[in-house]
Amino acid sequence: MNTTCGNDGIRKQCIALHLPYIRENLNDLLMEAQQSDWSYSEFLEAALTIELDGRNRRAQEKRMKEAGFPYAKTLDEFDLNFCTAISRPQFHQLKELTWVDGLYNLILSGPPGTGKTHLAIALGRKACEDGYRVSYCTMQTLMRILRTQEIDRMSKTKLNRIKKSQLVIVDEVGYLPVGKSEGNLFFELISELQEQCSILITTNKGFEEWTELLGDPKMAAATLDRLSFRCDKIEMGGKSYRIENHSSFLDKDNDAELPGETG
Ligand code: ADP
Ligand code: MG
Repeated sequence: MNTTCGNDGIRKQCIALHLPYIRENLNDLLMEAQQSDWSYSEFLEAALTIELDGRNRRAQEKRMKEAGFPYAKTLDEFDLNFCTAISRPQFHQLKELTWVDGLYNLILSGPPGTGKTHLAIALGRKACEDGYRVSYCTMQTLMRILRTQEIDRMSKTKLNRIKKSQLVIVDEVGYLPVGKSEGNLFFELISELQEQCSILITTNKGFEEWTELLGDPKMAAATLDRLSFRCDKIEMGGKSYRIENHSSFLDKDNDAELPGETG
């Protein structure tokens, strides 16, 4: 072994062996080993742990980015006192994600502002953290992807990613009407995904309204049949969190005087 090459040599070997995190942290590792009088095995374990942690972190960031969340929402921020549709034990079960392992689907339905998107994104992010491949898109984006998959490379890539995901989140189903041919594409995708991943859908429509939603009653029934086979539906009724917790910038007191207005 060539020990005369010193730390530069080690760094080069780290590059050759693709060990970026050991390379980055080499000085700190060596210093701590000296200061704490580490044994050889303690040093090796610390170096490998740094590499492994770094790789896990990078993989998690990649999963998070590829999932395509529009913004970050977390389960910790989700106020269960406000959302009475979900009990604490149920929330815990959702959070544990065993339903994703069991290929269960989840439908969050209810009026606007009741936390459907928040919960969907937060569960999706938790799944990314726990190592699952996740895809998020709105129904509108999904329709565009399905329509343009043959002519747009980005759509094709996104669709492939969806098909390889363990959790697929389709947000805002029912907000915009879907034509018969688009409904068909949606049905085909659901059929394909059904046996291979979990599907989380948020919708402002009840099941009975899905018929008009997908443009064709038979197809709507078939899509629902596929989705409902292994599925839980949570009705997030009640008030809008936005309206109940809105903030405003106008002074509440209309008669408040402006500075310098007196006299
Ligand atoms: P929906 O998708 O049902 O229309 P959102 O999930 O977009 O509603 O929620 C609207 C806003 O209210 C978001 O900023 C969200 O973070 C917040 N919100 C809704 N429900 C809750 C909740 N139970 N706890 C904390 N924030 C909530
Ligand atoms: Mg929403």
